Order: sequence, then structure tokens, then C-alpha cells
Amino acid sequence: MAGIYIHIPFCSQACHYCDFHFSTSLKLKSDLIASICHEITLQKGYLNNEAIETVYLGGGTPSLLDEGDLQQVFGALKESFELTQVAEVTLEANPEDLTTAKLDTFKKLGVNRLSIGIQSFWDEHLRFMNRSHSSSQALKCVELAQKAGFENISIDLIYGVPFRDHSVWQNDLKKAIELNVPHISAYCLTIEEKTAFGQWQKTGKLAPIDDHFAAEQFEMLVSVLESAGYEQYEISNFAKPGRYSKHNTAYWQQKPYLGIGPSAHSYNSVSRQYNVANNAAYIKALNESKIPTTVEVLEANQAFNEYLLTTLRTMWGTSLELAGTKFGVDLLKEKERELSLLRKEELLFTTDSTLYLTKKGKLFADEITSQLML
Ligand code: SF4
Repeated sequence: MAGIYIHIPFCSQACHYCDFHFSTSLKLKSDLIASICHEITLQKGYLNNEAIETVYLGGGTPSLLDEGDLQQVFGALKESFELTQVAEVTLEANPEDLTTAKLDTFKKLGVNRLSIGIQSFWDEHLRFMNRSHSSSQALKCVELAQKAGFENISIDLIYGVPFRDHSVWQNDLKKAIELNVPHISAYCLTIEEKTAFGQWQKTGKLAPIDDHFAAEQFEMLVSVLESAGYEQYEISNFAKPGRYSKHNTAYWQQKPYLGIGPSAHSYNSVSRQYNVANNAAYIKALNESKIPTTVEVLEANQAFNEYLLTTLRTMWGTSLELAGTKFGVDLLKEKERELSLLRKEELLFTTDSTLYLTKKGKLFADEITSQLML
């Protein structure tokens, strides 16, 4: 089984923290949709006729697309891929786009899961991050989506946003739980160089993120959501039992996927490839029937590192057995010293030949992973 990701690189405004690829001008929208459809046709063979299990429209802001745009994209997908076994079709949406009419369109076209970029229920934080919606829109859109028959909803939240205490974050978590959605993703605010926040930090307008403050909010997140019946199945992802994102779980389980659109990545067990992150260059190449992509064939160590990077963050852990049989890596031997130290510090543990992060280890997942990489 395989997945398809489609990157829609348009947003109504630029959030101050975001370094994804997007444009706030919709001038090239029609050309870009045509190019995406063309790329879908050209990439027909990439997944070796594997049945498609998930389709994910991300961005950017796919909810900016109108019915005609979406019809073209889904039409192209149907022509090129076997979609009869598709179990999950996710569309990322921003709260202000979710009108009853739009929701009906999404439903009609086969979208059965919404991932809504709420980020916060507090207006001051939404303005600080330059989000294009208000807290009341955030609450209202979930209600509208549920009324329209969307039960499979995920919401995104951001923690670590500077404030004098944890009251805003506590309130965000309370409101999120009250919405009764089966899935919540929560990410720590990080400052990327090429963003407005990155610039602010350079000029001293924004203080660095307080790691201790953010870590406390992460601990609150885990404990509050666990008490509310959510499982932390990946460091940033929480779901009611069994309600995991099928698409993201497939990434973490190293299943193949095809990424379509500017800046999209693909993976087929042998190589990774990255499309150009530029709308005009993408359209120009597709007009010449070329896919503007860079292919990177993974060497054995790189493939193992990818495996470690994606699996250690999940509740299924990293299989030491698979590390040996699939990647030829005896991790217990190769990283004996590091593993012993990490165990002593209670950052990870092993059962049944699988490596897991402890609760404390999840706070340092990136550092631990880099220590164990080859
Ligand atoms: S966070 Fe989402 S809505 Fe905001 S700029 Fe990035 S892609 Fe667009």
C-alpha cells in the first residue's frame, strides 16, 4: 500500500513562524493546478502500481482551492492511480475557509478527513503569529465541519508561544478537548531563519524561545491529553484509540509515497526525491513535460538513519531486529556506549528487541536520535 501527497503552495497570508513553501499571490493558481495534474500523469509509474491507501492535500492551504481546482486534481488522480482501496483522504484547512458550502464540496469530492490549522484559541497569540483567523472562527469551524458530517478531524496547535505563564496553553488544551475531535497534533514554536520571527530574532525584536517554558508546556500537553483519552502515538501526534492518521503513520512505517507539487518529497524504498520549491520554475518545467526533481539514492547508512529518525519518535519504536535484517546494522554493538549512557539516564529502554524513548526521552528526541545515527 502507498500514499500520495499533493502540495498546494498558496496561503492567504504568511504566518510569522512558517518556512514551508507557499506564495501569498494566487496569480499562478490555475497554471499550477494544471501543472500538478500534468505531474500526476507523468508520475503514474512511480509507485509500481501499488494500491493507494491514503491521499493527503497539504500546503500551503489547500482549503483555498475552489471546487473546479479540486475536481481537476481528483480527476487526474483517478485517471492515473488505482484508488478503489483509498481509506483516508485528508485536506488541510484553515478555519476561515471552512464555510458550509466549502465543506459540502470537500465531502462531495471524497475528502473524509480534515486537518485544521487552529494553532491557538487565543486572539493575541493568533495575531502575534500572523494567523489569518480569530479564536471564534477556530471554534466555529470545527462545529460547522462536524455538522457537515466530518467526524474525522485533526486540529493543529502550537505551544511554547511566549507568555507570562501557562494559562493560555492550559486554556488551549481545555478548548481542544472540548471540541471532541479524534486527533490533535501539537508542535513547539521554532524559529526558522528565513521567517519573520527569524528576522525579529536577528534584530532583537523577539527573544529566543525559552526551552524550559516550552518543555513544561510539552509535559502539560502529554499529561492533559493522556488524561482525556488520547494516545501519544508520535511525539507531536495524539489520537483517540485507533484514530491515528493513516497517511502519517505510513510515512513513519517507511511505506512508499509519491509527493506531487512544488517542494513535495517522494520516497520509494530505494531513493528520495525533492521537487523544486518554486512555483514558476515548477510550472515552466511541467510545461516542457519535465519533473523538476532531485533524486537522492539512499546509501545503507542513510537508509538506516531515516528508519531511526522516523520510528524512534513513535509509540511503535525502532526494531533492532529490523535494523539488522533490513539495514545490516547491529545497533547494540555499533552504539553500545551511547545506548548504555542513554539507558542510565532513563532516556530510552528496550523490550522485545525494540528501542523506545521514555517519557523523559521524548523531550530530547532530536538529540537522542542524532547520537544514535550512523
Ligand atoms: S502555517 Fe500554514 S497557513 Fe501559515 S503560512 Fe504556513 S502553510 Fe500557510
